[in-house]
Amino acid sequence: MDLHLSAEQVAVRELAADFVNREVVPHAATWDRREAVDPGIVGKLGDVGFLGLTIDEEYGGSGGDHLAYCLVLEELGRGDSAVRGIVSVSLGLVAKSIATHGTREQREQWLPALCSGTALGCFALTEPDSGSDAAALTTRAVRDGDDWLLTGRKTFITNGTTADVALLFARTGGPGHRGITAFLVPTDSPGLSRSEIKGKLGLRGQATAELVLDGVRVPDTARLGECGAGFRLALGTLAKGRMSVAAGCVGIAQGCLNAAVDYAGARTQFGKPIAGHQLVQQLLARIAVDTAAARLLVWQVADLIDRGQPYATEASMAKLFASEAAVRAANDAIQVFGGYGYIDEYPVGKYLRDARVTTLYEGTSQIQQLLIGRALTGVNAF
Ligand SMILES: Cc1cc2nc3c(=O)[nH]c(=O)nc-3n(C[C@H](O)[C@H](O)[C@H](O)COP(=O)(O)OP(=O)(O)OC[C@H]3O[C@@H](n4cnc5c(N)ncnc54)[C@H](O)[C@@H]3O)c2cc1C
Repeated sequence: MDLHLSAEQVAVRELAADFVNREVVPHAATWDRREAVDPGIVGKLGDVGFLGLTIDEEYGGSGGDHLAYCLVLEELGRGDSAVRGIVSVSLGLVAKSIATHGTREQREQWLPALCSGTALGCFALTEPDSGSDAAALTTRAVRDGDDWLLTGRKTFITNGTTADVALLFARTGGPGHRGITAFLVPTDSPGLSRSEIKGKLGLRGQATAELVLDGVRVPDTARLGECGAGFRLALGTLAKGRMSVAAGCVGIAQGCLNAAVDYAGARTQFGKPIAGHQLVQQLLARIAVDTAAARLLVWQVADLIDRGQPYATEASMAKLFASEAAVRAANDAIQVFGGYGYIDEYPVGKYLRDARVTTLYEGTSQIQQLLIGRALTGVNAF
């Protein structure tokens, strides 16, 4: 399905497909089993320009529009969601926030390294007692002369153990969202410790960590944006982030479709390929429709962003539909594979495990429904 793609967008998609087929697909099952991607993949993602998409070339980025960005994330999602997540977080949540809200010094300090893959970023919002209700976070930042002292605990942080900088949200004022400020915290700061959370259902190759801050000192120049504007910054960042999660989900669904169609043509039961059984075709058709519909919702968001239009509600719609569609698609693909879908010799079981978290993070499906409902009615039902 090529809806008005430009020559540049087609070229970047081909580049991404080739990269994923060479550098990701052959290793994805191994990385999943050993619960760690090859750290060298980060440098390769930087070299090919995927960690600098949509960022100005002046700061080491590779430019391009948001549709091209989504095309790359779809391919990465098809290859390995653990790798897609590294890009979504380091580029989509951290580098883009610095590009949008950072001072010239902050952009010069971090963007060239983040775009080249010599540094990684993580986005530290969630805490043990504040997930969906992120505005209830309790990590504190207390002013000390020209510095801030940060104390608290963050959990479920993607790239947490591998990142060089954390875009971290802390309370500088009273309760509620107006008391939250964003900081760029180098992860080698004294007083910051990190430990990996093992045993995830999916995204097993991706580092997920707990961060503990015990009087971590950062200068005021590490503050990103105004005091008290951190929650608004986080919400804006997450709205765009939802598009990249949704794009990764389209990749999962497309990978499920490719695998299921191939398998249905090759596997014979009752004297003919299972593709010749109508109920198997029903499964394939459902995956195909889910994939195409999710892709169009993602492209709509990218198009709105590229035209400077509001996109937050459409991003929630894309994330809600694409994440649920990816789970459905992976489940249907396993059904097509029969018992062989249940062992990790084939990719569809991993697709299901990796898809499952996309209905949970960057706002659960329930939270997306509340955001869409609020936009429709003007009534806040949180
Ligand atoms: C693998 C992984 C990676 C992650 N990466 C990051 C990261 O990089 N950075 C980061 O900051 N966080 C990250 N997260 C955290 C993620 O964003 C949170 O898990 C998510 O926001 C949900 O919060 P919670 O887990 O505390 O669930 P809770 O908020 O406790 O929700 C539990 C259930 O209650 C429902 N619920 C809550 N409130 C309402 C309501 N008002 N109405 C209806 N239902 C409601 C939820 O939908 C859910 O079903 C990650 C999580 C995982 C699992």
